[in-house]
Amino acid sequence: MATETIDQYELLIDGELVPAASNDTLKTLNPATEDPIGDVAAGDAEDIDRAVESASDAFPAWRDTPPQERGRVLTAIADAIRKNADRLARIETQDNGKPLSQATTDVEDCARYFEYYAGIADKIHGDSIPLTTEYVDYTLREPLGVTGQIIPWNFPISLVGRTIAPALAAGNVAVAKPAEQTPLTALEVGKLALDAGLPPGVLNVVPGFGAEAGAALASHPAVNGVSFTGSVVTGQQVAKMAVDNVTPVHLELGGKSPNVVFPDADFETAIDNTITAIFGTAAGQVCSAGSRLLVHEEIHSEFVDALTTRATELSVGPGMEDHDVGPLVSADQYDKVRKYLDIGRDEAGEPVAGGEAPERSGYFIEPTIFDHVDNDMRIAQEEIFGPVLSVIEFSDEQEALELANDVDYGLVAGIFTSDVGRAHRFARDVRAGQVYINEWFAGGVETPFGGYKQSGFGREKGLEAIRSYTQLKNVCANIDV
Ligand code: ADP
Repeated sequence: MATETIDQYELLIDGELVPAASNDTLKTLNPATEDPIGDVAAGDAEDIDRAVESASDAFPAWRDTPPQERGRVLTAIADAIRKNADRLARIETQDNGKPLSQATTDVEDCARYFEYYAGIADKIHGDSIPLTTEYVDYTLREPLGVTGQIIPWNFPISLVGRTIAPALAAGNVAVAKPAEQTPLTALEVGKLALDAGLPPGVLNVVPGFGAEAGAALASHPAVNGVSFTGSVVTGQQVAKMAVDNVTPVHLELGGKSPNVVFPDADFETAIDNTITAIFGTAAGQVCSAGSRLLVHEEIHSEFVDALTTRATELSVGPGMEDHDVGPLVSADQYDKVRKYLDIGRDEAGEPVAGGEAPERSGYFIEPTIFDHVDNDMRIAQEEIFGPVLSVIEFSDEQEALELANDVDYGLVAGIFTSDVGRAHRFARDVRAGQVYINEWFAGGVETPFGGYKQSGFGREKGLEAIRSYTQLKNVCANIDV
């Protein structure tokens, strides 16, 4: 299949493609082959400075652009992404490794974010508040200014849409820092946005390493809002840097999400969704993966047998061949997941499915299931971020809820049951930002998303994201003078 990538990538600052000030580059690899794709300019603090300055200069005009016009530009960006969907999906698959059909879905998600927030650009408004008759009081919802988006490697293009489209719709300008492992599609979207009519400087894209470009962005005094998606440890560092400037930050961190299956569930629906929840997206490298299966003792054996059969049937191979499960993103991630396979064997014994890394180049790991896991084991408590499922048995509703909540994370949770009351009792009592009932990964750009507990704070997606990207001003006028 045709390669869409090029050998040399530059930073996108002030509407121009430029090398890093230091001239440093980083190599991005194809995780299915471990071959380099190309050299990418590696930005550092100096480049972030340049990007923030360009964004600051662009801010007043973008803020004052009529909202419907901002919406039209975002619509044009969505159209451009759709026109280039095949090319973008192939670049994403080469850079990230994920199966081509999943990359295609992610590209469409990115277009949808621009389309969705395009429609919201002219519907962001405040309230009027009744006081006594001598006053008029109203609120204005204003953009923050320069926003910084620190983007992870698991959903590179989708997260460009998710974090940048609402920022721009609300009148902010942006400096995006894609992950060093997967910088290509953010640059591509940046270029398409310019061609679609986005003024130079409104969106800058600065690839680079986290400790350099990422830290420079999070700690920059002229940045007025930071959006971070990634690991808890890095999120804590980013928040500390941002708070030194009293810059609002919003964190979307990890998960160890419970997928709870009762005997009265539709068996096939529960099996299908359990497979999708852990193996069906980005090889399990997804913060909302259903990585803890809590299954009732009455159906435990039958359910795990069926799951094992299905997991073993999944094909594992290069994303460009569109297998069910592609490679992990990098050597680091591959080593980390293999370490958890050893930890899992020590804690819970041989896995009932998978457990191996096939002997070939590329960062492939078989879909793996550990059965008879205790909820206090490391493979039940720690985010593995790979195709590894931990199965835990429970005996009643109360125990299921306690197990579901007994982790530091609280991103999503799922329940499979035909008992409507039980489903909604669980939805009420589980400590998670999103709850799926008889489904996993439901909801699209419209549904607010974000974590409880160590999974973060702030909400992305839907109308809620606009709150993260605006600040509220109250105006109180005495009209009796
Ligand atoms: P992982 O450890 O799985 O690579 P991270 O949470 O570290 O995930 O990375 C998510 C994003 O955060 C990436 O864009 C990365 O470059 C960036 N990043 C990493 N370290 C820092 C840091 N110290 N400051 C700011 N950003 C960082």
